[in-house]
Amino acid sequence: MQILDGKEVAAFHRDRVERKLADLLEDNIHPELAILCIGNDKPSAMYAKSMQRLAQATGLTAEIYGKDVAMREDDIISMIEYFNEKKSIYGILPMMPLPGNYNASRIINCIDPAKDVDGLTDTNIAHLCTGRSGFVPCTPRAVIAVLEYYHISLTGKEVVIIGRSNVVGKPLAQLCLNRNATVTHCHTRTRDLQAETRRADILIAAAGRAGLIRGDMVKPGAVVIDVGINRIDGKTVGDVVYDEVANVAGAVTPVPGGIGSVTTMMMLENVVCGQTLTD
Ligand code: NAD
Repeated sequence: MQILDGKEVAAFHRDRVERKLADLLEDNIHPELAILCIGNDKPSAMYAKSMQRLAQATGLTAEIYGKDVAMREDDIISMIEYFNEKKSIYGILPMMPLPGNYNASRIINCIDPAKDVDGLTDTNIAHLCTGRSGFVPCTPRAVIAVLEYYHISLTGKEVVIIGRSNVVGKPLAQLCLNRNATVTHCHTRTRDLQAETRRADILIAAAGRAGLIRGDMVKPGAVVIDVGINRIDGKTVGDVVYDEVANVAGAVTPVPGGIGSVTTMMMLENVVCGQTLTD
């Protein structure tokens, strides 16, 4: 069984980010990532901080904007419009979900698609679906980056994805489809999850349910990608029961040290290297 090591994949991409950043700095271009953190959601604040730390460690300027008290929706939009205009800002990253009292779609779609580094705007989603270049959400990109790093082709494969969120499951299905996989999408209303997962050559769990994927749900030799991040008894675990699945699968991503490690690097790559082809 092969461990698909996210840290190794992240290091590979970090090298690319640092080289590109060095070129930009040499040309006296100092790109900035604007992280928008609104409200008092603790995980969002922690994610914003860790993203800022990682960005700064690679030499990229990253500022966190926002307040932990309520901001008027129009003030958030004015701030985004300012970021859109400011040349040195290469990427705008809003922490999601936004507090429920805001019209999230209105706010997100104010971001200039050319600075929408997490691929959240309707424009970038449309580009992903029609195979035009644009920004692709970072977690789905991280899954593809891991498969590519380990030379695991998607062409003709049965890919089963558990989860259909707008930021992970749906764009991931599109990326797999664009790479000629046969994609099955599972969710909470799927009638027989095990019957679906057992057909998968590549099984991707993105449900956010610890212990969801047991050994008897995996086809022998399958590649299993665990996107889930769950906190159980102070420990971070994925959706996959690792010890059971490792006995059956051909390859597995661990948690921690898997997709999460690559996701943040994909964000920096989007900021520094720009848009990628979505197909
Ligand atoms: P979400 O809650 O928006 O969506 C979860 C999806 O899983 C839903 O579509 C739901 O239908 C499906 N689902 C839930 N329970 C299920 C079950 N028992 N059977 C079948 N389907 C089920 O979550 P999200 O934002 O898509 O994130 C999914 C997971 O990925 C979470 O654990 C999240 O923390 C993690 N995540 C990881 C990274 C990373 O970098 N590794 C990034 C983003 C999200």
